[in-house]
Amino acid sequence: MPAAATLITTSAREQIIDITREVQSLVAGMLDGAGIVCISVPHCTCAVYVNENESGLVADTISLIDRLTSGGWKHDLIDNNADSHLAATLIGSSVVLPVIDGGIELGTWQRIMLVELDGPRQRRISVTAVGDAAAGGL
Ligand code: ZN
Repeated sequence: MPAAATLITTSAREQIIDITREVQSLVAGMLDGAGIVCISVPHCTCAVYVNENESGLVADTISLIDRLTSGGWKHDLIDNNADSHLAATLIGSSVVLPVIDGGIELGTWQRIMLVELDGPRQRRISVTAVGDAAAGGL
C-alpha cells in the first residue's frame, strides 16, 4: 500500500496552512487510476480539514475555534492547552479524499488545510493511498 510523509514547520500558536501542494506531491506517482487517499496528522493538537483558502474565511475559522474552545478546562491544570486538544477533536486529525486518474479530486475552491493549534512546532503529514497502484510506485 503506497504511503509517504512530510514535515511542516509552523510559526504561530494558532495557524492554518494550505498543504494541498505538499500533499499532491506526496500522492503523485502513488496511484495511476482510481482510489482514495487518507491524509493524517499524527498529533493531538493539530488538525486537517478541506475548505477554501480565503484569508477572511481562514481568520473566521480561527475565530470560530477560539469561541468554541475558550474557557476553563480540566486539562489546563496539566499543561494549559485544553483548547488546542478540544479544537483538534472537533476538526479531526484526518481526511479521506478520492483519487481519479492518479490525482486528488478536489473542487475548484477546495484546499487541504493544516490547523496548528499549539505551535509553533514541526508537524508530520502522513498520506496513505489505496487503489490502482502506479507501476514502480511506492
Ligand atoms: Zn495537553
